[in-house]
Amino acid sequence: MKKSILGYKCKKCATIHYPNRAICRKCRNEEFDVVSLPEDGKLLTFTHLHNPSGDFEVAILDLGIVELSNGCRLTGQMKIEKPVIGMKIKSQIEVVRQSGYKKFYGAVFYKA
Ligand SMILES: [Zn+2]
Repeated sequence: MKKSILGYKCKKCATIHYPNRAICRKCRNEEFDVVSLPEDGKLLTFTHLHNPSGDFEVAILDLGIVELSNGCRLTGQMKIEKPVIGMKIKSQIEVVRQSGYKKFYGAVFYKA
């Protein structure tokens, strides 16, 4: 089954929040519908993290902040050889970290 990132859409004003919030930041409503976030967006900024903790199993971790096509922003790992700010990306959910038999899923960004 394909996994997707879930956002929280306000039942009153339709503003989509990610991550979830107890109260809508626009209209202060407290009820939300769970919606899948779009996979396409653009790269806002990125960094290279050297020597992350051992469970990442890589020496350098590339992290990016992306604005999805619906305006939500999220942080994730990048698998892009030469990232450029503003470039179009596609996100997908993958195992980003492993600790023993435990798998942690997160967003991974690729060049669109
Ligand atoms: Zn609202």
